[in-house]
Amino acid sequence: MFHRANRLNGIELSEIVQISEAAARLRSEGRDVLALSTGEPDLPTPAHVVEAAHAAALDGKTKYPPTAGVLDLRAEIARQAKAEVAEVIVSTGAKQVIANAMLASLDPGDEVIMPAPYWTSYSDIVRMAGGTPVILPCPMDQGFKLLPEQLEAAITPRTRWLMLNTPSNPSGAIYTQDEIAALASVLSRHPQVWVLADEIYRHLSFTPFVSVAEAAPDLADRLLIVDGVAKAWSMTGWRIGWGMGPVELIKAMVAVQGQVTSGACSIAQWASLAALTGSADLLEERRAVFSERRNLVVAGLNAVPGLRCAAPDGAFYAFPSCAGLLEDQGGPFKNDADFCTWLLEDAGVALVPGRAFGLPGHFRLSFAYAQDTIAAGLARLKAAVERKLS
Ligand code: PMP
Repeated sequence: MFHRANRLNGIELSEIVQISEAAARLRSEGRDVLALSTGEPDLPTPAHVVEAAHAAALDGKTKYPPTAGVLDLRAEIARQAKAEVAEVIVSTGAKQVIANAMLASLDPGDEVIMPAPYWTSYSDIVRMAGGTPVILPCPMDQGFKLLPEQLEAAITPRTRWLMLNTPSNPSGAIYTQDEIAALASVLSRHPQVWVLADEIYRHLSFTPFVSVAEAAPDLADRLLIVDGVAKAWSMTGWRIGWGMGPVELIKAMVAVQGQVTSGACSIAQWASLAALTGSADLLEERRAVFSERRNLVVAGLNAVPGLRCAAPDGAFYAFPSCAGLLEDQGGPFKNDADFCTWLLEDAGVALVPGRAFGLPGHFRLSFAYAQDTIAAGLARLKAAVERKLS
């Protein structure tokens, strides 16, 4: 009989993937389903990036890459961040950067603080690496952001990392310069705590974005910045992300990566170099597209009885509260998951319940979809809720 390792206890396919699969199943049964559940831009990978990949493959850049990443790409990442090449690792997606960092640094029982709502994979990656996620709820009335006093109260001698995600998946929240500085001031009293700043949505900001590296220079010797091409350049399938941090950490992450993948796909790395050195106009155009969708989504959600939605500062997600539709406020649904299941069955709209992000009573709607799809999804959502409440 197969023995499933204890390190996988409680770890299943992410709820986001499960919902996408449920939506696909309903579609295969002939149902008309609108998925607003996935964080994958509908826009294509830019043509010049695809051409660079083609050229790299024809040029024979098809051998094992250096474990830490193709030197030209690492050098460009370092140049843009005013860092050293040795401080950069390129991995198979930002997700592997995070996994490398946790596997490289956590011993059993080490604690990792994550403000909720957090990207679903953070807690599972930490658990797989033997660590203990310490989840701190950050409700809508504090902008879904961690307060310095919450951070101070949660730190123990076992705390190894604070995970910050700005702009956030799923809330869209962006930490301001002052907010980052206030958190850094707490951390100045706790030198054993490192910071993982996941800035993969940095180019999709609707309010001013500041990198943790700039806002808290004092953290430089214990800061890992995570970034990648997946979101801003619509390159989810190319699987390229990178980490920037102190050389000793990067070396340990390269050691992990060397035993797991031997390095990221060489062709995709050359394509990513073309993305990074391409015109910034493309990023601005895409940001404008998402900004328009964001306005549509916030207005549409706030027009639904029982829902309350704050405008996201960045990324392509809205994270409204559905508390007004739940039983403890006299509504028809037990919880956020019950609401999302009903909506998929009844109206054919796929959303992700807030519990997947550590903050129940909400749901995530992705606007990485065509405007027509979003508008149709919002109309169905409104009609279904009104029907249910009538
Ligand atoms: N961080 C966050 C916050 C994300 O939303 C995602 C993708 N959903 C990732 C990291 C992983 O990105 P990649 O596809 O590059 O692995």
